Amino acid sequence: MGTASRPNPLAFLDEELAALRERHLYRPLRVMSSAQGPIVSLDGRRVISLSSNDYLGLTHHPRMKRAALEAVQQFGAGSGAVRTIAGTMTLHEELEADLAAFKHTEAVLTFQSGFTANTGVIPTITGETDLIVSDELNHASIIDGMRLSKAPRKVFKHADVEALREVLREATTKGRDGEGAPYRLILVVTDGVFSMDGDIAPLPGIVAAAEEFGAAVMIDDAHASGVLGEDGRGTVNHFGLDGRVAIQVGTLSKAVGVLGGYVAGSQALRDILIQRARPFLFSTSHPPAVAAACREAIRIMQEEPELHERLWANTRRFKAELARLGFNIGTSETPITPVLLGDSELTIRFSNRLFDEGVFGTSVVFPTVALDRARIRTIVTAAHTEELLDRALGAFDTVGRELGVISG
Ligand code: PMP
Repeated sequence: MGTASRPNPLAFLDEELAALRERHLYRPLRVMSSAQGPIVSLDGRRVISLSSNDYLGLTHHPRMKRAALEAVQQFGAGSGAVRTIAGTMTLHEELEADLAAFKHTEAVLTFQSGFTANTGVIPTITGETDLIVSDELNHASIIDGMRLSKAPRKVFKHADVEALREVLREATTKGRDGEGAPYRLILVVTDGVFSMDGDIAPLPGIVAAAEEFGAAVMIDDAHASGVLGEDGRGTVNHFGLDGRVAIQVGTLSKAVGVLGGYVAGSQALRDILIQRARPFLFSTSHPPAVAAACREAIRIMQEEPELHERLWANTRRFKAELARLGFNIGTSETPITPVLLGDSELTIRFSNRLFDEGVFGTSVVFPTVALDRARIRTIVTAAHTEELLDRALGAFDTVGRELGVISG
């Protein structure tokens, strides 16, 4: 029988795709044929990129490339195994020691990504007798980590410390059986910087509430790693809360410029993760070049403070100019600046027109954000020059007027 007459059991995928296209929610991938950086070649065009998480420009920093190349020469291209079997290299151990010193914590364990750090740590340390309390806008990897845990969970209103206290008060009063049996652990989890709106978690209030009710705090610092705090140590350091947050998850994939995630905390936390965390136990470790480049990034962040200064100077300038042009840029306090347009179709059209004008600003639409909160999400980096930012702002001005988003 020919294949033509056989029914396709995956035919429903075509229908789903057609539905997405009809609702203007289908997003094709743009293909980059250059290195990451402030100017990239996308779909064959040279454009100014406002879409990477390469906050410090480290993806293409000469010292990073050198560190990676030297590691390949000395240790080869791959680690060859899961770390518990035969893949722990001196480079992995050294990176973790460097990160622990940088984060002012006892110990660090690295994971293949920030995503797997969250899906590894949450189910490892929580079970049926625990409670997870999560901000409603926490990242997908925290949500997936909670789904993998047997612990019940409660969600509190975004960044609302009073709402969190209410959840904690009820949890500690009623307990896990409704009659006051205490939870073994109550784990409060929050992003440090929320990646869609760029706002910072109200960590001092969260930590105070957790301490009052005997809960532990876990922070996912993906967008704060390398961005907030002294030399980019993160949200905990930014707020002067060193030592008061039990678990800090960070990423090595954004400002650090390479790939990976890590969990920073106590030695016992690291030791139990090595025994139990499933992405650690069942997935191969970073290639030598990744570990070596991440180590170099931690050094660069401390030895080249001008990168951090330029990131923040660019951030202030870009936000001020977008606001002056009349755009709604929300309440971001970080280099993430959403340009809020509301409607998905308008947002995709805006992004496409920006691209025609030589600027790559990604559209973010439902389901990543609420249906009426579509936006162009921009991130400026330390690698953008003033001239590039001016050109990008010129494109926003042109397209904003053309599509009636700003007047003039
Ligand atoms: N947490 C948050 C808050 C993030 O924004 C991201 C990346 N989008 C991750 C975790 C995952 O990090 P990684 O890219 O290293 O997997």
